[in-house]
Amino acid sequence: MTHPAQPKASHFINGEYVEDTAGTPIPVIYAATGEQIATVYAATPAIVEQALSTAKEAQKAWAKMTGTERGRILRRAADIMRERNHELSVLETYDTGKPLQETLVADATSGADALEYFGGLAGSLTGEHIPMGEDWVYTVREALGLCVGIGAWNYPTQIACWKGAPALACGNSMVFKPSETTPLCALKVAEILHEAGAPAGIYNVIQGMGEVGGALVTDPRVDKVSLTGSVPTGKKVYAAAAEGMKHVTMELGGKSPLIIFDDADIDNAVGGAINGNFYSSGQVCSNGTRVFVQKGIKEKFLARLAERTGNAILGDPMDEATSFGPMVTENQMNIVLGYIEKGKEEGARVVCGGARADMPGYYIQPTVFADVTDDMTIAREEIFGPVMSVLDFETEEEVVARANDTEFGLSAGVFTNDFSRAHRVIGQLEAGSCFINSYNDAPVEAPFGGVKASGVGRENSKEAIKHFSQVKSVYVRMGDVEAAF
Ligand code: NAD
Repeated sequence: MTHPAQPKASHFINGEYVEDTAGTPIPVIYAATGEQIATVYAATPAIVEQALSTAKEAQKAWAKMTGTERGRILRRAADIMRERNHELSVLETYDTGKPLQETLVADATSGADALEYFGGLAGSLTGEHIPMGEDWVYTVREALGLCVGIGAWNYPTQIACWKGAPALACGNSMVFKPSETTPLCALKVAEILHEAGAPAGIYNVIQGMGEVGGALVTDPRVDKVSLTGSVPTGKKVYAAAAEGMKHVTMELGGKSPLIIFDDADIDNAVGGAINGNFYSSGQVCSNGTRVFVQKGIKEKFLARLAERTGNAILGDPMDEATSFGPMVTENQMNIVLGYIEKGKEEGARVVCGGARADMPGYYIQPTVFADVTDDMTIAREEIFGPVMSVLDFETEEEVVARANDTEFGLSAGVFTNDFSRAHRVIGQLEAGSCFINSYNDAPVEAPFGGVKASGVGRENSKEAIKHFSQVKSVYVRMGDVEAAF
């Protein structure tokens, strides 16, 4: 019998499901059991062509609609996503292995927020009028044209919407390629947009590995590329886009600092560290994986952290009581286990976890290392799993310098009850998305993205509009033209 997660076909192009079994088969494995639940096929050159040509063609009429009309379609799609939240959350759990307890509140709901927010903004995207004496300049905010979205595997529904919603609101079309690890959810986003009234071709989804991503990025018809992925992939995609002078948004990896001062509320700080390391089993780009704890409270913090981490419920992700799921793939599990071994070898102290969980599926115990030093591999490289490194510090000046001593700059957090210190420290941290007495909140109203190697551009908020549109300026002369001859 076909598994309920199996999609009707691999691709969604020009308003319908399309199959081409000549492409490389991509198995979809459920991380909680290791069983294959679906198969999709990577896009062949013919599929890539179909996706790009229909999206290119459809964009012209879409851009001519009023923003209010486009926005209405996006908001209708948001409503459909919310109505189907349970079904979409179950699919998200099959796609990623994340527990239903999370997917019910963080995935289709976050995608719907983006569709609603950008749908609401679409009607108010305007240029400005600049008086020049009797002459004037006016500006027009125009769509870029055909945009490509490429996703990572940790938030397949959310990423498809965070890229699609602002792109479509501005009058662009999009071809979206999900991660080959989690190919299922983006198809539902395309289906729902179509059902909500999006014209055929406005949002196409095709499957494939990096090769298919590469074919999209280098196509001369494409005007913009928005990637969520790792820094090495980001460098390749950014370079390929530069060849064609295309716009880019790069949402890449991180190794973010979370700084806890000795005057902080310990339970809130522990909660922030848990949210910033163990949500989605640590597979979150903005995670605060370098937890700097001021020396005086170190043992108290670690004791409370170990106690609360012990309350994590590892189990069947479809059981809503489960609060901690598996790694997305066996490969990702092995990478993370390799880092845990490295941490032990390099002399960090295991406070809790530190091994694979004794159960089927790709589960790793939530792991806390203490006595981590800045030079250790686990303090320098992005692990993308449930591995928290706790480092000690003494002074504010010292911790700011150490927190910034990394190539990454996605997020940063500070816990303290001294508000002038909180703002002073955040002001010095090299990061795009920051938190005071909190961690990892990502509402659609707030800009999201990194500095340094963590990325270029911002997603969400009004900032995203700037990255999916361009400004035309028009000088209007009322009088005669003066010329030298
Ligand atoms: P990845 O870089 O391996 O792949 C990302 C996507 O790029 C995939 O769809 C992949 O098929 C595609 N790709 C690979 N090579 C390509 C190429 N040459 N041309 C075009 N496309 C190509 O990343 P991943 O393992 O899927 O995801 C994990 C990474 O993503 C982590 O580093 C994580 O921090 C990052 N991430 C960042 C954010 C953010 O918003 N900043 C969010 C989630 C994940």
